[in-house]
Amino acid sequence: MSATDDELTGLHNRRNLFLTLRRQITYVNEKKSSLALLVADIDGLAAMNNAYGFEFGDKVLQHVALQLQQVARAHDFVARIGDDRFAIILPGIMNKGHAELAAQKLLRLLHLPFESNKARVKVGVTIGVALCPSHATHGDTLLRMAEQALVSAREAGEHLLFAPDANQNADRTEFWDLEIELAGAQQRGELAMHYQPKVDCATLKPIGAEALMRWNSRSRGLVPADLFIPVAERTGQIKALTLWAMNTALRQAGKWKHAFGKLSVAVNVPADLVVAHDLPELVQNALNLWHSDRVQLALEITERSLVVAPEVSFKVLSHIRDMGVKVSIDDFGTGYSCLAYFKNIPADELKIDKSFVTGLLEDPASAEITQLIIYMAHRFGMSVVAEGVENEPTLRALQERQCDVVQGYLVGKPMSNEAFQMWLDAAGGVRPEVPKDMFPPDLRLDI
Ligand code: C2E
Ligand code: CA
Ligand code: CA
Repeated sequence: MSATDDELTGLHNRRNLFLTLRRQITYVNEKKSSLALLVADIDGLAAMNNAYGFEFGDKVLQHVALQLQQVARAHDFVARIGDDRFAIILPGIMNKGHAELAAQKLLRLLHLPFESNKARVKVGVTIGVALCPSHATHGDTLLRMAEQALVSAREAGEHLLFAPDANQNADRTEFWDLEIELAGAQQRGELAMHYQPKVDCATLKPIGAEALMRWNSRSRGLVPADLFIPVAERTGQIKALTLWAMNTALRQAGKWKHAFGKLSVAVNVPADLVVAHDLPELVQNALNLWHSDRVQLALEITERSLVVAPEVSFKVLSHIRDMGVKVSIDDFGTGYSCLAYFKNIPADELKIDKSFVTGLLEDPASAEITQLIIYMAHRFGMSVVAEGVENEPTLRALQERQCDVVQGYLVGKPMSNEAFQMWLDAAGGVRPEVPKDMFPPDLRLDI
């Protein structure tokens, strides 16, 4: 330990942080690179000192110091710069998103409660971040801006804020920004599963629901699935999201109250996961956790999953079906399938793509394709779901063509779990011959 160290935590002290910051900023200015300065304050340390004594407070400080060291990479510089205040210099970061990742990692590490013989507490921190050169090119200004951001975060009740940009909106729409925000979405409780009813085409009795993910971002509002799912796929976050979706759907479906016997809940699984060898194991784990005799798990996979690496996907899907899980081919007919392998498809259900269903009444080709898919599916023991059914004439056309299941705005839009429970309640007193009564208009809304 040297004179520039903090005795309690073994970290550098404020003076040493200043010296290092000046040196590093000179380097950044010369090399035209960038760095971030992150300042973190422990929430309520004084209260913890009062409640459990200073010895406990010291242990909390050491605990936070340890988590900061875990966040730090080899060249990062960690210091304690005040009673309950820490700072970390992150040299060579490429953009704001990298600094945010570091901050989120710290928040994640501190999510677990800290425990000593005195008490068990959740240690919260508030973080302010400033970047060099975009916010400031002098050490003291940069520190002041990071500390100011921290104060603003505290006032706004946020855990993390950046110093304000000269042009605040300049980079909000960039891809990495969405990617970074998505990385913390689940942890921040911004994700939810919504459910869209699937009903028997002839009797209109509920047979289950498709689970669709919703991201209600605090900063962006509701982000469409078509926008964030592809980002999750490109960045590899889709695996964690799919597992979360599957577990959430099984957990919630297990609690649905209804008199329809066994209801299916269908989770969308992207191609990359279908060709991954651990999919059956992950599905089995979820089933072990949430098993219910009244829930039938189904996986909706796209045709693309079958053609990318058929040797692998056919094997994985057969394994999954052996576990009692149904496999459904989504967006069927959109271009990849080949009639030759039709009879070998390891699936229980085909979902005719919306585009054919929408065109069913006006476009003779769509009508013929729909008819053909239904015929072929039945011929090989599969059932058929029509998705995107928006009006009654389309429903009647599908009934005439012996379609098995329908899904679409006519029956119900995707809705929150609570709204889906209400929808089931309303469908409980079904009079199947009068479909309009079955679906109260307010429950058709996307809640
Ligand atoms: P998808 O799997 O084909 O889901 C059906 C989409 O059609 C949903 O859009 C649904 O809201 C919409 N839809 C349902 N009925 C109708 C209708 O009558 N008319 C019209 N015009 N649209 C209807 P959503 O929820 O925006 O999802 C879009 C796509 O995002 C999904 O297409 C799926 O590919 C993906 N997605 C959504 N949730 C998840 C998820 O949890 N995991 C994965 N991997 N992908 C998901
Ligand atoms: Ca789907
Ligand atoms: Ca679909």
